[in-house]
Amino acid sequence: MLIELEDLEINPVDFREEFSPGAIDLGTEVRQRSPLRSEGRADLVEEHHGKHKVVQDIRLKGKLETSLEVACARCLDPVVHEVERNFDLLYRPLGTDSGHEELSVTDAEAEIGYYQGEGLLLEDTLREQMLLALPLKTLCREDCKGLCPHCGKNLNEIQCVCVEHIEDPRWSVLKEIRDKLNQ
Ligand SMILES: [Zn+2]
Ligand SMILES: [Zn+2]
Repeated sequence: MLIELEDLEINPVDFREEFSPGAIDLGTEVRQRSPLRSEGRADLVEEHHGKHKVVQDIRLKGKLETSLEVACARCLDPVVHEVERNFDLLYRPLGTDSGHEELSVTDAEAEIGYYQGEGLLLEDTLREQMLLALPLKTLCREDCKGLCPHCGKNLNEIQCVCVEHIEDPRWSVLKEIRDKLNQ
């Protein structure tokens, strides 16, 4: 859904949209498991700079709800995140701030982004907000044991025999390094 500047000049635009999994590309590492529901309102915010210059910003306020699946960072098992997120964003025309000092923000609460051309594609914002809603690192559980670096077995499910060989002190140093890398 393109939120068009043309429409915003007349009235705020309310939206209530549903996107089924796959409608918005989340890349290869995140999978959408249930419909994405989103609603909110877009407003035009005019910033007056001096007597003649008016910058047209788009303020997008709303919420989204969906469930996303990501692989555990250690064992790669799928982990589901129920995502609910409110957003309040301000978009300036691309290029507004370049070569100028940072312009005053109309609403300090709002985060700032940029739009290009005739308006703002709601899907772009939703994609970004869904990804931001995920933790930096997903674990299936705090103490996930991960995969055995030797045989690749999931150590949460099975204790492989590779560990028995790690008794030599030289191995324990390697193990420490490996554990750090796996963290
Ligand atoms: Zn795990
Ligand atoms: Zn193993």
